[in-house]
Amino acid sequence: MILKNGRIVMGNRIVEGDILIEDGVVKEIKKDIKGNEKVIDLRGKVVVGGIIDAHVHFRYRDTRKEGFISGSEAAINGGITYVIDMPNDNPPITTRERFYRKYREGKEKSKVNIEFNYGVTESNYLDKIEEAKSYKIFMVESVGDLSIRDYSKLRDILNQDKIFTIHAEHREVIEENKKRYPLNSWIDHCRIRDRRSEVEGIKEVLRNLEEIERLGGKPHVHFCHVSTKEGLDLIKEAKKRFKNVRVTLEVTPHHLYLNMDMAEELKGLGKFNPPLRSREDNRALIRGLIDGSVDIVASDHAPHTYQEKCRDVEKCPSGIPGVETLLPLMLNLVNKGVISLFRLVDLVSTRPAKIFQIDNRLREGRAANLTVIDLKREVTIKGERFKSKSKFTPFENWRVKGVPIYTVVKGVLYETSLVDV
Ligand SMILES: [Zn+2]
Repeated sequence: MILKNGRIVMGNRIVEGDILIEDGVVKEIKKDIKGNEKVIDLRGKVVVGGIIDAHVHFRYRDTRKEGFISGSEAAINGGITYVIDMPNDNPPITTRERFYRKYREGKEKSKVNIEFNYGVTESNYLDKIEEAKSYKIFMVESVGDLSIRDYSKLRDILNQDKIFTIHAEHREVIEENKKRYPLNSWIDHCRIRDRRSEVEGIKEVLRNLEEIERLGGKPHVHFCHVSTKEGLDLIKEAKKRFKNVRVTLEVTPHHLYLNMDMAEELKGLGKFNPPLRSREDNRALIRGLIDGSVDIVASDHAPHTYQEKCRDVEKCPSGIPGVETLLPLMLNLVNKGVISLFRLVDLVSTRPAKIFQIDNRLREGRAANLTVIDLKREVTIKGERFKSKSKFTPFENWRVKGVPIYTVVKGVLYETSLVDV
């Protein structure tokens, strides 16, 4: 297959040319490749290598909600070529045996390149899992024993030469708030898991890292879905202060675009954790994209059935699908002039690859994993076009400019279904 006349993003420049793909591998990148292979003309289109969604929940073995097949098809439809899956399955991925069972099944069934996180508990934290991309820590209740209840254990847990991914919401703050507020309206969900719960969660981790830094420990801590201005500022400061300890952070598109003013209108589609924040937080996170303090953007794709998401606030589960809207929503920011195309590639390809050690570069001789983007195309986001089993989104009917049109995974070309017919 020859992809012709693409505008190929390579490092900090754009090269116009052709890409020859054979046996799943990029054989050649240059101008005017001749041959008898199938030719796809990409004039005016942008080609980006190795787009990673570093935070998805594909609901291993809960195929009512998703599973590796529909989840990976959804990722590909969203222009994603690599995903990292989270361990809060039922039962949770907190033993070596469960990890490798899931790992093997995922690698076999998933059409997209897939990697996995290992779940940390108060008793298994010394486990070393070669194939795990990161060790996930939940500071709030998750599934079974997959959460750290006793925060005094964090110092020992984090004082290891590993990459930890942390869901930082402070359990005690949330418990206090539950006593104070009822849970009758959608905004109540945001009040109970208020900004203080995230800020105190982050502070708790940073306090422990402070000590570990003094002890000479060298963990890498990656904060998932940071949603508040103060949280972002705290991590930004910590990055400057620490010398041994490495700290990075992630934001989600829904925390960039949505806020509490929309809670009652979005109903269950606006229920996720951390919850909707304020308009000022949207702005602070967007500033973080611009000034470089945000390391990566990931979707936190968390599918549920539509019936479940239509329940009242108490019974509605938290989480929304996102793997098919991540890239269009970010390309929209490029078209609005908020961030450059290069910065976007940094956020969803280069940086996550560095953090999680994924070799995703678009180079001759390497596996062909790339996304073809039509930057000029405006589309209406429609849940019904998703490949995910969750065919709904809080961004329903939003107009965005910039959309993936083809995804190539391990040399196989897929056409996306996100564009208007
Ligand atoms: Zn998550």
